[in-house]
Amino acid sequence: MDRAGFERWLVQRTNRRQVLAGLAMAPVTISQRGQPARPRQSDAASSSQADPFALGVASGDPLPDGIVLWTRLAPDPLNGGGMPSVPVEVRWEIATDEGFTTIVQSGVTIARPELAHSVHVDVQGLEPSRTYFYRFAARGAISPAGRTRTAPAPGAAIDRLRLGVASCAHWEHGYFVAYRHLAAEDLDAVLFLGDYLYEYPPGEGFVVEGQEPVRLHTPGETVTLEQYRNRHAQYRTDPDLQAAHAAFPWIATWDDHEVANNYAGARSERDDPTATFLARRAAAYQAFYEHMPLRPESLPQGPEMRIYRRIAFGNLAEISVLDTRQYRSDQPCGDTVAPRCVAALAPDLTITGPEQERWLLDGLASTPAQWKVIAQQVMMAELAVRGFAPEPQYNDDQWDGYPLARNRILGFLQEAGIADAIVLSGDVHSAWVSDLKANFLEPSSAVVATEFVASSISAHNPFGPRLAILLPGNPHIRFFDIRHGYTRCDITPQQWQADFRAVPDVTAPDAPVETIASFVVQAGQPGAQQA
Ligand code: FE
Ligand code: CA
Repeated sequence: MDRAGFERWLVQRTNRRQVLAGLAMAPVTISQRGQPARPRQSDAASSSQADPFALGVASGDPLPDGIVLWTRLAPDPLNGGGMPSVPVEVRWEIATDEGFTTIVQSGVTIARPELAHSVHVDVQGLEPSRTYFYRFAARGAISPAGRTRTAPAPGAAIDRLRLGVASCAHWEHGYFVAYRHLAAEDLDAVLFLGDYLYEYPPGEGFVVEGQEPVRLHTPGETVTLEQYRNRHAQYRTDPDLQAAHAAFPWIATWDDHEVANNYAGARSERDDPTATFLARRAAAYQAFYEHMPLRPESLPQGPEMRIYRRIAFGNLAEISVLDTRQYRSDQPCGDTVAPRCVAALAPDLTITGPEQERWLLDGLASTPAQWKVIAQQVMMAELAVRGFAPEPQYNDDQWDGYPLARNRILGFLQEAGIADAIVLSGDVHSAWVSDLKANFLEPSSAVVATEFVASSISAHNPFGPRLAILLPGNPHIRFFDIRHGYTRCDITPQQWQADFRAVPDVTAPDAPVETIASFVVQAGQPGAQQA
């Protein structure tokens, strides 16, 4: 369908009732409060003129023949979305050109109130390694267009892959100028590694000392589904974040703040009753699903949602995307920086859960892809804090809290003779490059992989540049920088190059970007060298 056709379809839809008779006869939808859903007069009246596509569009999880297309109808983003509580038709189309003259597929999907009128279209039958453009239409409006790209054919010999890596965007700490620069890069996909948003109340929680928030969060600490939805929607109104989603497919996972700080499995930081916390986790997971371009198979079941998965780019790279929150044991030695306690060395202590760990090792052993990528949340390299106590101290929320679980993965790389493993991480609001050892408990142990930790988009690091004092006590760490930004990875069969892209000041909406360091890993030789 060309643009005129798309518009004709829209006009027909708008002239007819927007809620089709057939849909109205579908099983009665139950609203949050348990009442049969019915559009409220005020909703229909107030939102009919507003743009239903105020949150933009997104795509994600590229396959050789498929992609997920996302949008959410939300004419009143900060107040529950502003849609009537009924299913609404959304038309989608995907084209090979920006002008939508060659539309290769189109269809109609249903935005349901139970999922906050989000849609997740699992498009199949596309060509590999191809750029596509997509858009939606609903309620008399056409969405902005997004651009996306499928993965290469399975096993295809490709000579180059470019990935962006981002994490930790705090609405109040700064503008999302780093997302704007990310959107302007030339990338095949973006890996998002967690802390897409923060749960704190406006002006509270995790504040930057001596700095006023550049803008304020939605009311309250996010606990209920409605609060998580409004918080996601608030972040998604940001034009720079919208641009980053519209520019590339995202492969997104979460860390703690999509739910609550430093949670571990069913346990919250402040040890809420398990049932209370799991209800909160269910709300947070649902809102995350509703706002991310994830396949419908990730749809949460109560407080459980499978988000770990693999994405392959021909024979060049296979990415295992982890979830180190949902299945982890409680942080062993207190949820803080502390000397290593006996509990940290318990053999059954886990950060991935046993099932995901097996899945990861099986994937690492069996993939034919050259670069074996582990994309996950928290820093994997040891970061010993020395000189402040008689014994070294460790941040138990990172892999340092789970040293034997780390050894099981890094030791496996050594045993299996896997030389081209790359670990991508976020969480620490600063950039790091580290050589990963098969066994950090044994200082002479071999380097088996390389870790690139992306800095934060805007979330503040309270320690600042002082963290550099840790470098002499951690000689496997090759680079540290406190500036905000993201990592750009340029991957070929010969080498993996990571460029650290940084913005000097996230309180300046027009801050520029620069490359502050580049590191390379040569194929077959784990460990980073400054480029
Ligand atoms: Fe963070
Ligand atoms: Ca985090």
